[in-house]
Amino acid sequence: MIRVTVWNENLHEQTHKEVQEIYPKGIHNAIAEGIACPSFEVRTATLDQPEHGLTQEVLEQTDVLIWWGHMGHDKVADEIVDRVQQRVWQGMGLIVLHSGHFSKIFKKLMGTSCDLKWREANEKERIWVVDPAHPIAEGLDQYFELEHEEMYGEHFDIPAPDELIFISWFEGGEVFRSGCTYHRGNGKVFYFRPGHETHPTYFEKNVLKVISNGINWAAPVHGTRPYYGNHKPLEEIKAN
Ligand code: ZN
Repeated sequence: MIRVTVWNENLHEQTHKEVQEIYPKGIHNAIAEGIACPSFEVRTATLDQPEHGLTQEVLEQTDVLIWWGHMGHDKVADEIVDRVQQRVWQGMGLIVLHSGHFSKIFKKLMGTSCDLKWREANEKERIWVVDPAHPIAEGLDQYFELEHEEMYGEHFDIPAPDELIFISWFEGGEVFRSGCTYHRGNGKVFYFRPGHETHPTYFEKNVLKVISNGINWAAPVHGTRPYYGNHKPLEEIKAN
């Protein structure tokens, strides 16, 4: 059983009628319901909860954290960001969605500006699988399309990904590295682009499949814990 926490700032849903209509229960609940399956134990957390719903206890009981944020990045307390980073270093998986590219946690883990081009023109996005053998691409065709999405375009100011799984093409001509993986400490990080709040993207089966595949990929392997610091020799070291 993989323990998943879906975190959402849940702000657009309170203030934008258009978003409320698409996600009446919030983006977090749409994702939580969309990925529900017997092998995931899913809970949600939101910005307005004490400690943004990400107490030490919740994070310790989380194998994979999913992050959706946009207008409230600055409202996330640095202390909580540090706590999430620590958990990633310990081995918790992190899936950062869409405008989460500008979240404090993603920028901190990447160490770059994470800036990009964008445009809201309700245009078509075609997402190409460029690493078909990767577990995150399991069950997909060579590409899938979203009829209406926000455009994100290169250059995307991220460190070179460990693995590049998807490249998006947009109707307006731009391309974008839409599916990128990283290792940070003992944790695995997956950035996945789609999910602008005014489109019903998190009801799309291929998008949900990618997120589910991402959870399976990012979940920690509960093997040995690494040891750091001073270490006693395993064998007797013979004095020279
Ligand atoms: Zn957006």
